Amino acid sequence: MKSNTLAIHEGTLKDRVTGGVNTPLYTSSACNYMDRGEAVYPRYFNAPNQDAVARKLAALEHAEAGLVFSSGMGAMSTSILAYAGSGDHVVMLDALYGGTHHFATEWFSHFGIDCTFTLTSAEDVIQKVTPKTRVIVIESPTNPLLAVVDIEKIAQFAREKKITTIIDNTFASPVNQTPLDLGIDIVVHSGTKYLGGHSDLCCGMVACSKEKMARILSLAKVLGPSLDPRLCHLLERSMKTLFLRVTAQTQTAMDVAGFLETHPAVAKVYYPGLEKCEGHEIAKRQMTGFGAMLSFEICGHDPDRFIESLCLIRPAVSLGGVESTICPPARTSHAKMSAAERKRVGVTDGLLRLSVGLEDAEDLKQDLDAALHKISKDI
Ligand SMILES: *Cc1c(COP(=O)(O)O)cnc(C)c1O
Repeated sequence: MKSNTLAIHEGTLKDRVTGGVNTPLYTSSACNYMDRGEAVYPRYFNAPNQDAVARKLAALEHAEAGLVFSSGMGAMSTSILAYAGSGDHVVMLDALYGGTHHFATEWFSHFGIDCTFTLTSAEDVIQKVTPKTRVIVIESPTNPLLAVVDIEKIAQFAREKKITTIIDNTFASPVNQTPLDLGIDIVVHSGTKYLGGHSDLCCGMVACSKEKMARILSLAKVLGPSLDPRLCHLLERSMKTLFLRVTAQTQTAMDVAGFLETHPAVAKVYYPGLEKCEGHEIAKRQMTGFGAMLSFEICGHDPDRFIESLCLIRPAVSLGGVESTICPPARTSHAKMSAAERKRVGVTDGLLRLSVGLEDAEDLKQDLDAALHKISKDI
């Protein structure tokens, strides 16, 4: 079956009481232990509602196994620690999500893990690998400049060296990219974004082979970042419309990116779907769609004034919801960096990151156009 069908049906648990079409909500944290190997218990990640969403994600990511966590960071930190320990070396993109970057810089030494950061390029990742490298962590497209790395190239190299590869697939979502098909070992999501999709829950997910999942699950059970069955139920409902939502959002993002690219008040647009974008060729090969995240620079203008001039698009730091949101990364996700460091990685003060929602493309373009006109008039 196709993924848009699986998004609706896979994992759904039969309701034997009413014959209802939805997975019933099982809230018990005290369950019978007789006649079963391991009792059902939410912190064991084996509650029926956790299982339902995990199966759904596994199907969408073409994986044998899935697991749902209480946050994207819970999913990411558990996955890394399951495969890197004392004396091991990890290679990570410099442009990784801030929380993952922070985990490495602030906490890896505590666990005796050594780490090297790389540019957003497969060549640089490969070059930074040492005989002690056990894990490679990548993200594509990256936040906030939507840079793209050659996933297959990294995965192939890592397989030969028996290095475990982890990718943060949050920005693309399984609708636009399935990294296990490209040879990646472990896919991690912040389900808070597209999988949840309505800006009303925080969760994380992992998809990989059964073999790779065994260590992740074993560690997850003692670290304890499990998601409550009530939120799993809400997440399951959201994931049923994942394909419909993200396909429409991706289409609108392409439209909006094209509009911004030709707008005289916009200096630069970062979107892998644009031919002018550096990663376009690689993106065309490894993505089925270019996603619904884009960034752009309004040269010489105050981003706060621009954001205040928008009527429809809301200022917010998260992403992936049905409503379009915007934020200036220099003031939000990258605020902790020094100005010099931000300049080095290309995050200028005038850079804006837009999460394209489900509104009509014409309304979004009109909102952006009106705000761009307003700030252009002011100077
Ligand atoms: C939000 C985000 C995370 C962290 O997820 P949480 O659910 O906030 O823990 C990780 N990676 C990316 C790309 C994100 O956008």
